[in-house]
Amino acid sequence: MTSTARLVIVGPQGSGKGTQGARIAEALGIPAISTGDVFRANIKAGTPLGEQVKAITAAGNLVSDELTGRIVRDRLAQDDAAGGFLLDGYPRNVRQVEDLDGFLDAAGLDAVIELSVPRDESMARLALRAKEQGRTDDTDEAIAKRLSIYERETAPILDVYRERGIVDTIDGVGSLDEITARITDALAARGITRPAAV
Ligand code: ADP
Repeated sequence: MTSTARLVIVGPQGSGKGTQGARIAEALGIPAISTGDVFRANIKAGTPLGEQVKAITAAGNLVSDELTGRIVRDRLAQDDAAGGFLLDGYPRNVRQVEDLDGFLDAAGLDAVIELSVPRDESMARLALRAKEQGRTDDTDEAIAKRLSIYERETAPILDVYRERGIVDTIDGVGSLDEITARITDALAARGITRPAAV
């Protein structure tokens, strides 16, 4: 049996989705594609894209659906994503869900991992990250804005995917290893495992 692993990980800021997404992608042998990382790398390298999105991301606002969609579509067209991928940070609203549907063939996504973390826990983790990493969008104001955008615009995408029966809600409180194990168990229950080496 061949199983694809076309995955999305969704969770509020501070839920640990970047860390868990990277671990799961590694375990499954698929690329982790983080739109936030793409933007940060471009800002750091001073590319035209970076210049375009610098002020937007620093304020905690969303980059346009068109621009973000173009980046994701191009990335998904690369060879290493042919056997599967894990998207982190995309889609972030219902419009982006529709755009992503258009980038994929009719089979669509295999699973959407929802990482569930109480708001005070994610706030505490973000405050710590702000101290440790000094991300320019980890100011109190930008964090509050991103969390409210999450609740208003991103949480509703889960309803769309729930109707398709592909959401696994994972308790995001615990040790990193425990949470990774919860996710791999949930995916394995859907038949999504690392393909055996040939
Ligand atoms: P966080 O989840 O902590 O907000 P991300 O690394 O996912 O961090 O994203 C950082 C910033 O990049 C966002 O605040 C937003 O400006 C931009 N961004 C990332 N993904 C998207 C997206 N799908 N649509 C629009 N903007 C995005």
